[in-house]
Amino acid sequence: MFGTSDQHTPDVLGESPRVIGHYVGEESGPLVVVIGGIHGNEPAGVLALEQLFDLLKEEPLVNPGFTFRGELLALRGNLEALKAGRRYIDTDLNRIWKTPVRPPEDPYPSTEARELDGLLAAIENALRETPASELIMLDLHTTTADGGVFAITSDDNPSLMLAAELGVPVIKGMLSNLQGTTLSYFRQPQFDFDQPSRAITFEAGAHNDPESVDRALAATVNLLRSVNCVSKEDVSTHHDDVLRRAKAGAPSLLELIYVHRLEKSNRRNFRMRPGFRNFQPVQQGTLVADDDNGPIAAPCSGYMLMPLYQEQGEEGFFIVEAYDPYLAY
Ligand SMILES: [Zn+2]
Repeated sequence: MFGTSDQHTPDVLGESPRVIGHYVGEESGPLVVVIGGIHGNEPAGVLALEQLFDLLKEEPLVNPGFTFRGELLALRGNLEALKAGRRYIDTDLNRIWKTPVRPPEDPYPSTEARELDGLLAAIENALRETPASELIMLDLHTTTADGGVFAITSDDNPSLMLAAELGVPVIKGMLSNLQGTTLSYFRQPQFDFDQPSRAITFEAGAHNDPESVDRALAATVNLLRSVNCVSKEDVSTHHDDVLRRAKAGAPSLLELIYVHRLEKSNRRNFRMRPGFRNFQPVQQGTLVADDDNGPIAAPCSGYMLMPLYQEQGEEGFFIVEAYDPYLAY
């Protein structure tokens, strides 16, 4: 029942290094594009998508009633950085999705401009041929810190509601603070696809935790169920259990209230103090990191998110707080 696969054969149905698989269902539905490994040191999403295509291959054999509505396109993000096991080679691939204009072709200004061009070509190709009435983007990531999984969405209600169906904490308010991520690109009015779109980023846990692969797979399968690509009866409850276990008591809806940015000019040997986890409560004034100017205090109280325990990264840490939609109006 679309549960877990024991035998994993990498690259089954893979069409190219970029394309993990492109599954076209026999009935109509949305086009779901899932990307793993936009950051090269986050292979969990890629492994989860390879497993998912194994499952899709097996499912009709063991479950003759299985039907898929719409299309699933699964892509590897930063191929060069995945090979090198680094977040990126020249620049962060999840900060350069800006104008819907293809970057200049060879010579590309960076390795990541070439990667972005490859990703956009694959997505635009699928969009050109699809009869789908909606585009849904899911971007799979992991974090350097431990503790909890979560989804990040744009702040439009359809995306928020879809993210909420994954059953993990949802962070809103990121979009206005982080430019050039996959979340915003397909929602720009200039983008040449006149159907509605929704976009979600899923953070599956720590980079090298084997369970991050299970959680990325669970989130993808549950999203396919939420948008009715697959029927509820065809999805194992195992995936809900995996995500429920990982939720770890964090609030269901949170809002970004602070980003500690590390620009190239003011990186100043930023060092997060050890031991911070996602969703760890912090009080205003708590010393959380150091740089060449001395200790860095949390400027507000809330929950710690994505404390940076690696060299590469544009943000040192984020602080979020519980968001009550009823108090906001
Ligand atoms: Zn990432």
